[in-house]
Amino acid sequence: MKSEIEVLDAFENIRRAQRAGAYAPHKPLLILLALARVQHGEPRLVEFTAVDEMLKQLLAEFGPSSAAKSRHYPFWHLATDGGGALWELTGPREFLKRPAGVTPTVTELRTHHIKGGFPFDIDDALRHVPGLLEAVASRVLDAYFPLTLHADIAASLGLDLDGPIEVREARPLTTVDAIGQRRRRDSGFRERVLRAYEYRCCVCGFDLRIGLTPAGLEAAHIQWHHVGGPDIEPNGLSLCALHHKLFDLGAFTVEPSGHRVVFSQHAISGDRGMAGELQFHGRAIYAPQHRDFLPAHEFLAWNVKNVFKAPARRPIAATPRARR
Ligand SMILES: [Zn+2]
Repeated sequence: MKSEIEVLDAFENIRRAQRAGAYAPHKPLLILLALARVQHGEPRLVEFTAVDEMLKQLLAEFGPSSAAKSRHYPFWHLATDGGGALWELTGPREFLKRPAGVTPTVTELRTHHIKGGFPFDIDDALRHVPGLLEAVASRVLDAYFPLTLHADIAASLGLDLDGPIEVREARPLTTVDAIGQRRRRDSGFRERVLRAYEYRCCVCGFDLRIGLTPAGLEAAHIQWHHVGGPDIEPNGLSLCALHHKLFDLGAFTVEPSGHRVVFSQHAISGDRGMAGELQFHGRAIYAPQHRDFLPAHEFLAWNVKNVFKAPARRPIAATPRARR
């Protein structure tokens, strides 16, 4: 069985191969899905067909637009990453012998009953080292997704991040935290961004305080911190908790040239329609107190490309009253 350190290293090596600034949720979502299967005591290998629908849904929810179309890529390519240390494929020998770079289609993976999963030594350690699976899952979430989405992703997968209580109490995760160089968060970022926007949500103007302390207000990274977004005001937006979450989900973005809030066509507001969340569509954000703090074009462009769920809603024209 592999040691805890070896297992964590194997996952860490996959992350390091990621291009700086690139955001592709495919691999981490497949890994998290596979971890959830192990946690639920399911067999080591699974047919692509059995997870296809789930991958599609996860990518539609947590990936940028059109990500779901390439949902089968990591199922195939993860087997060659890190020398095959993390993913194993089984199926007809002829089929598996094709060059690694030639991605099979979804239909091919289905008809050849291709199965994938963690190699035996990794799978075994994940099942038997207390707390290891939860530590790996937390690190994958930290490395690829903003904190606002962690609980939602885990819930979609039925993944329990805390693990059994007796393990948590018996085993502080210090050994795990000591491994790998995570970028430290700049704790001054939140304060500087909130101050730049005078302690209000730049979308809806929310500015509640409890006593003197702003409540429910957060500093969002426009280009996500874990994919290289810097801790500077032009990469930050002051948002209420709701708008922070909607922003990280790609329900809206801020358009780079005019700083207008643009909602996705996928964001539907039910009966409340334009009286609800969508009332902010097309409006400019509340400006920060100095133009040096305005969101920078390059970071907004990154967000539009990597997070926003295109296509954008059209500009609002004068419209007749919505049907009831
Ligand atoms: Zn808000």
